[in-house]
Amino acid sequence: PTLLADRLKRIQPSPSVQANDRVATLRAEGKDIINFTIGEPDFDTPAHIIDAAVTAMKQGDTHYTPSEGTPALRQAIVEKLARDNALEYHYDEIVVGAGGKHILYHVMAATLNPGDEVIVPAPYWVSYPDIALLNEGVPRVVTCDASCGFKLTPQALIEAITDKTRWLVLNTPSNPTGAVYAESELLALAQVLRDYPHVGIISDEIYEHFVYAPARHLSLINVAPDLKSRTLIVNGASKGYAMTGWRIGFGAGPRDLIQAIVKLISQTTTCPSSISQAGAVAAFIGDQAPVRAMAERYTQRRQLMLEGLQSIAGVNCTAPDGAFYVYLDVSGLLGKTTPGGQRLMRDGDVVLYWLDAGVAAVSGEAYGLSPYVRLSFAIGDEAIQEGCRRLREACLALT
Ligand code: PLP
Repeated sequence: PTLLADRLKRIQPSPSVQANDRVATLRAEGKDIINFTIGEPDFDTPAHIIDAAVTAMKQGDTHYTPSEGTPALRQAIVEKLARDNALEYHYDEIVVGAGGKHILYHVMAATLNPGDEVIVPAPYWVSYPDIALLNEGVPRVVTCDASCGFKLTPQALIEAITDKTRWLVLNTPSNPTGAVYAESELLALAQVLRDYPHVGIISDEIYEHFVYAPARHLSLINVAPDLKSRTLIVNGASKGYAMTGWRIGFGAGPRDLIQAIVKLISQTTTCPSSISQAGAVAAFIGDQAPVRAMAERYTQRRQLMLEGLQSIAGVNCTAPDGAFYVYLDVSGLLGKTTPGGQRLMRDGDVVLYWLDAGVAAVSGEAYGLSPYVRLSFAIGDEAIQEGCRRLREACLALT
């Protein structure tokens, strides 16, 4: 007999979290590892946000809040959407959750009937298919390879839509590829979506602040306001404000959908942390200079990373337009043999070989497109340089 439900068999533990755990174990054993698996900013949360949370605690903001989030935070998000995204929302079109992931889980739980399909362009953030599966949905993975910049094309979208399609998940800027959808690309997808009014759009914009010129971040509904009534924007404080541990994300969308998510949250987590919400108000409407400073640092690190990777034989990378990841093509390494006599057959083999060389990364298998390896540059400059040096040596040692 087992205590576990069948639904648990459908999903895997998050591979990026697992990779990070593996680094922690190896480091505890005394191994020196450069960790390129990190999926979060390495910066501290800006001081004014911490101050706002401390003040809130001292003032007694330590109670349950409304399930949809405090009025102050929802109003701050309305202002943020107007300022950063030129999008007009009313505060009852906003729900706050314990991270963007929490909103994604609840929107799928609130809307998927068994067998409903969720279109997930690959490479994808690892949680989309599993969250759909957990909620009786069927992920419909659409491969978007390097030839189209890892982005969904109108033709591929048309081919993926069926009568059972409930959602298209669009993630721009993308984790893991850094792809950013341009205006013309969003317009073309919008044109297709107009022909299929039963398809909703989840627009995950959590990396919006980290975009490298000349690319710029646009939401689908900036170019197609007529799709607003069936789009849920998912965003949050985690990446842009270096607040991953605070667990604040939000959804912005049509009232009935927001109310459905709120109903579920009222029976799951009740509400996000009152203290984190107070901090997030300061994040969204306070001084934005720290965000710009962090974006500037990522711009420099991206450059360091691209320079470091350029000189490595057998790997090939497209410069990411956004986020803080490089999705490295390692096809040139497959078929080669390590000094230990092992033949590299898959990107997972490459990752294990690099781990022996003191470098941790996540294999493309986890993101639905191989043979690639994802490297995060949300780590210090010296670590980036040293990591690239180790990779160069490791790749040179292959025969
Ligand atoms: N969406 C994408 C593409 C992500 O990479 C992440 C985190 O890694 C999230 C959403 C969720 O972030 P959080 O739950 O911390 O808001």
